[in-house]
Amino acid sequence: MTDQTPDSIAAAFAAQSAGTVARRTAFGLAERRAALVRLRDVLTRREPEIIAALAADFGKPETETLLTEILPVRQDIALALRKLGRWMRPRRVRPTLATFGTAARIRPEPRGVCLIIAPWNYPLTLALGPLVSCLAAGNSAIVKPSELTPATSGLIASIVSEAFTPDLVTVIEGGIEASQALLALPFDHIFFTGSPEVGKIVMAAAARNLSSVTLELGGKSPTVVGPGADVRQAAAWIAFGKFANAGQTCIAPDHVYVHEDVREAFLDALRARIAKAYGQGPSPHLSHIVNDRHAGRLRGLLADAQARGAQIVLGGEGEGRYMPPTLVEAITPEMRLDQEEIFGPVLPVIPYADLDRVIARINERPKPLALYVFDKDSAFSDRIIAATSSGGVGVNLTLLHYTHHGLPFGGVNTSGIGAAHGEFGFRAFSHERAILANRFSGLTMIFPPYTARVKGL
Ligand code: NAD
Repeated sequence: MTDQTPDSIAAAFAAQSAGTVARRTAFGLAERRAALVRLRDVLTRREPEIIAALAADFGKPETETLLTEILPVRQDIALALRKLGRWMRPRRVRPTLATFGTAARIRPEPRGVCLIIAPWNYPLTLALGPLVSCLAAGNSAIVKPSELTPATSGLIASIVSEAFTPDLVTVIEGGIEASQALLALPFDHIFFTGSPEVGKIVMAAAARNLSSVTLELGGKSPTVVGPGADVRQAAAWIAFGKFANAGQTCIAPDHVYVHEDVREAFLDALRARIAKAYGQGPSPHLSHIVNDRHAGRLRGLLADAQARGAQIVLGGEGEGRYMPPTLVEAITPEMRLDQEEIFGPVLPVIPYADLDRVIARINERPKPLALYVFDKDSAFSDRIIAATSSGGVGVNLTLLHYTHHGLPFGGVNTSGIGAAHGEFGFRAFSHERAILANRFSGLTMIFPPYTARVKGL
């Protein structure tokens, strides 16, 4: 770990920059694989500490930590170890008529020194997942975890310093000040995961150095339950997607539009599902809210909604940093609950009769990170998909598209720029260099003095 004064942050950056040219040739397939194996081994050995850190930061149940924090990083590493040789191989491109006699290829090359800024909600996987892609692509990295999950942040620093020398990877801990000192530096790439508001600050800072960016942001992900939905299936997936990590998930269903014909059956199924998953009283299977400020923010959303006529049909305020699964009806557009990304275990259920109005409502808002549709008829989901835009879509499921590493994971405009995961993550951290080599091209006719033949080309 490095101290967090602007000078020491600049020194950490300079130490990595000094190695950029050497890494182009010395950090090849074997070395990158070895780096990933080191990370994997340290993670395996320190698994109990990871579970303890996440429990300390927000009471995250052990199984959820294993499934949603450790497993994704392990899978990222395993995939990169298997596929890296293929990802790194230059891709040949056929010559065009005008470049006949040349050989064309695209060579993915490291961008250089990268900055990874992570949020608090999945503090381990959203710091180390991008790091796997960054190393696979042959870069060095400075990682800035979130200050809101201090136990995990300290542990990430310790894991990284055990696995890597600081000229390859180092962690800078701290909050906005550390983040802004980092953002002032001319990184070759910045990979930011967090809110759209801070995403704008990051992009503006990147613009000053023309650093390229990947922005993994958030927003309100809508869910539509159609008249032909299997309501029990819909309830089970929506409860899973909404209440995993107590709703503090960037792709959690934010609110549900449910067709009025199935509203009652859906609500019954949802209540039954919640009772089965979490029982009565504080549940050991439900994470806590990350801190008192966020718990207060969520209670503020509920109070504002109630004052404007909303009805809490299940759950409620909870106590301290514990908030039970909560269902709210009678939502209206002036409520903050209907305007802000909820990011907690509160689910507005909004009945509808006319799908076109739901589609119009989705399109009025910034493009979401995820969109979920439940209906047995694929024409129903196809209609919504064709008429809207979002980073990704889940049909008759939630969250699972995140885990498919053959799919790009990312948003669109307000919900993000660029993509992560698997080869898409590798490409985010690579520059695709175009190389055209002359073998026997007769195109010298394009040189001056210009003749009648060149005019006829
Ligand atoms: P945040 O934007 O407040 O913070 C993210 C990071 O930016 C932290 O490391 C923080 O220290 C830093 N930061 C905060 N304010 C800053 C500033 N003014 N200048 C520079 N750096 C600053 O986000 P958060 O609250 O940690 O996370 C929640 C948000 O992240 C939600 O909007 C959620 O949807 C989104 N998110 C997106 C994804 C994704 O993959 N797309 C994943 C998780 C979370």
